[in-house]
Amino acid sequence: MTYSYTQISQYLRCPRSYRHRYLDGWREKETRAAMLFGRCFEKALGAYFLRQDSAAALFKEWGAYRDTPLEYSNGDNWDRLAHQGVQLLEKLARDDRIRIRQPRRNLQVKLVRSLPNGNGFVAYIDAIGFLDSTSCLLEWKTTTSRYPEEPAGLLSLDPQLVCYSWISGLSEVALVVFVRKRLPEIQYLRTSITEGQCREFGQLVEATAGQIEAGQFLPHSGIRFPQNGCVSCPYLGLCLGNQQLIDVKLIRKPGASDLDWLDQLDD
Ligand code: SF4
Repeated sequence: MTYSYTQISQYLRCPRSYRHRYLDGWREKETRAAMLFGRCFEKALGAYFLRQDSAAALFKEWGAYRDTPLEYSNGDNWDRLAHQGVQLLEKLARDDRIRIRQPRRNLQVKLVRSLPNGNGFVAYIDAIGFLDSTSCLLEWKTTTSRYPEEPAGLLSLDPQLVCYSWISGLSEVALVVFVRKRLPEIQYLRTSITEGQCREFGQLVEATAGQIEAGQFLPHSGIRFPQNGCVSCPYLGLCLGNQQLIDVKLIRKPGASDLDWLDQLDD
């Protein structure tokens, strides 16, 4: 069994949703514009660091969805996202705070780690490079709202960064957040992950894998207003036995765990 950050975090959020996704093969339909745009934008970032025409790369990727009926939120549309993407790429170039040496090697870096019982863990790191001349692991995010920066040190608790520090052995990590808003903004957020956090994350992975292999998939439904996790869960239709909701949101693909790391690109 090969685990990923997406699998572990989905199990921890709700074991029942893990069963729907990884055992029964239910996948969310890919109709969310923000998520698809995020993937296209990351391809454009790759082109930028390879010193290619990043705007052209963005239009090539995002252009494939121009006539696709997608779910847009916050009054977005295809043109607006394209415009924001170009503005963000221009700002990235103006800021000029990130360096990636040997980009073909240091972009989308695949890392694998062995786990007990013959299992493995795989992660795809967006980049390994330098932020303001400090060597670090880099993760890109596209979002419509700024990441919180207070209280100081908050970023060091980000579970995905802890995971990537654990698997890479790199303590310096950074999030580069591309904020799609009226005046697009890039947040450059750096933090350090301790050895103790990595050790605990490894324990969490092993404990979670143990529960998955023991077949424990009890639901962790959200019951408290206003943070009811079920409301935004794509598997709500399955848990409610609501066929209409299932048809709108889900598609069933046997053996659907392939490429699940792409989920990490979600908005
Ligand atoms: S709808 Fe709620 S209980 Fe069902 S899988 Fe999603 S989070 Fe879990």
